[in-house]
Amino acid sequence: MARTIALAMQKGGVGKTTTALNLGVMLANRGRRVLLVDLDPQANLTQGLGVDLNTVTYSVYEVLLNPEHGIGFATRSIADHLDLIPASLDLAGAELELSGRVGRELLLRKALRAAQNEYDYILFDPPPSLGLFTLNALAAAESVIAPLQLHAYALRALPQLEATIELVREINPPLRLGGIICTMADRRTNLSQQVEQQVRAQYGDLVFTTVIPFTIRLAEAPAAGVSIATFAPNSTGAKAYAELATELEERYGR
Ligand code: ADP
Ligand code: MG
Repeated sequence: MARTIALAMQKGGVGKTTTALNLGVMLANRGRRVLLVDLDPQANLTQGLGVDLNTVTYSVYEVLLNPEHGIGFATRSIADHLDLIPASLDLAGAELELSGRVGRELLLRKALRAAQNEYDYILFDPPPSLGLFTLNALAAAESVIAPLQLHAYALRALPQLEATIELVREINPPLRLGGIICTMADRRTNLSQQVEQQVRAQYGDLVFTTVIPFTIRLAEAPAAGVSIATFAPNSTGAKAYAELATELEERYGR
């Protein structure tokens, strides 16, 4: 069975998509079979993997509309061991269209059922809002990994995320907070170090040892449509995400 993980945080710009993309690629580079699911109407993950939105015929939107058809028709191969269910711009209108459906939070879970044995990891990249796409990701996941941008007030977002997880447990009882990843760390600043210390003091082992540094290379890679492993393989960002993949595998027991 695949390990299903949602990179979730109810804030934009904290590194959800960057982490889903680069962690997914690093896991695939280690030989794991990885499926990335782009649930954000902004389609940053899809475009960051070099997929032209004009070529997307079937996206996660059609998957949610037709969960009984599974995911195969919308899944694309990006690289060896790496598949993507892309987002598309019409996803923005899908929320309304799906909102009247019975079991609307469980559509993704249903669609993925038959694919569970085809992957080692399924990573969900939801949007920041707690709408239907995020709910579908949380209902289909076994755990949430929260990227935490090391800024002032960053810690305030975590109780809110924990409350959301608690709510979603009503429809997905095993869901848990599986980890916190400190992102955009600037070790030269006191603030960044202070926030990191605070989150470690408060959340202990839930916080990954690996810290993702703030580096412009990580921000530049998506425009080239490749991961940091291809864009700048020897950069600190590439090393950090490779380490994160190793640590994730240790934690998830594969
Ligand atoms: P989210 O998905 O949470 O909205 P993103 O992963 O899209 O966040 O990141 C927001 C912006 O910050 C993007 O432009 C991205 O390229 C950039 N970014 C993400 N992580 C880093 C990092 N470690 N260092 C520098 N820039 C980053
Ligand atoms: Mg994003």
